[in-house]
Amino acid sequence: MIDMTAPDKHPRSMVEVTGLRKTFGSLVALDGVDLSVDAGQVVAIIGASGSGKSTLLRCINYLDPPDSGDVWVNGHLMGIVEGASSVRRAKDRELRRHRADVGMVFQHFNLFPHFTVLQNIIEAPMAVRGVTKAEAIATARELLAAVGLAGKEGSYPSHLSGGQQQRVAIARALAMKPRVMLFDEPTSALDPELVGEVLRVMRDLAENGMTMLVVTHEMAFAEEVADTLVYFDKGKIIETGSPAEMMRNPQHARTQAFLQRLL
Ligand code: ADP
Ligand code: MG
Repeated sequence: MIDMTAPDKHPRSMVEVTGLRKTFGSLVALDGVDLSVDAGQVVAIIGASGSGKSTLLRCINYLDPPDSGDVWVNGHLMGIVEGASSVRRAKDRELRRHRADVGMVFQHFNLFPHFTVLQNIIEAPMAVRGVTKAEAIATARELLAAVGLAGKEGSYPSHLSGGQQQRVAIARALAMKPRVMLFDEPTSALDPELVGEVLRVMRDLAENGMTMLVVTHEMAFAEEVADTLVYFDKGKIIETGSPAEMMRNPQHARTQAFLQRLL
């Protein structure tokens, strides 16, 4: 696979989140989240349904702008929040480019159903990155081979299994040459026998040095692949540590109770 770890110019972490807060009306979905992820690191995020995991990922790539707090990716501020100082006022075009540094994979694949596999993958690089069609197709073929789907270029999503669709979704995200990949429960909509093929692609990606944040309750995967496990509760990070250590010896009662229900 392509080496995604070539450093840019910044000295700090690949992802730096500080004081992130997000409300929906009176509901506080993110209640002051600080998170720092070094280049090449994999962070697994667990927590009960409704605890804010998806909101965190969506705020990191500004699909949902946070109410306050900063998100830095690869040394670039990801968006403008209210009351922004002039230093934050990057041009729209720059913001779009920085957001393109963050790839996202959803639970329900979200492929364009009326596009072939190839069209799904080449669309954004041509529209956002300004890549030529020939170049986009060459990259798409390379990525399809890497996710084990060589020859599926002309298929439509509905003709693929869920596991294949999710691998296309991963290839589509990678085609933008992101510096960070966010996965939101990428295997939880899959039949059990299809989970492994998707996790295998994610493991490859991690081994090739991709920086990844993965919301998942696949604890064997988290233990094997993640450098850090984060336990999320009511919009806050309650506990963080090495996956093996945290699974065996959770420090907080709530982490303990959650893991007990899970394992
Ligand atoms: P998780 O991914 O951990 O299950 P979410 O981040 O999806 O949690 O949701 C956190 C909280 O924010 C939940 O209470 C959810 O109902 C609420 N929420 C998420 N998105 C929206 C939205 N667009 N509008 C209103 N409430 C939302
Ligand atoms: Mg969620």
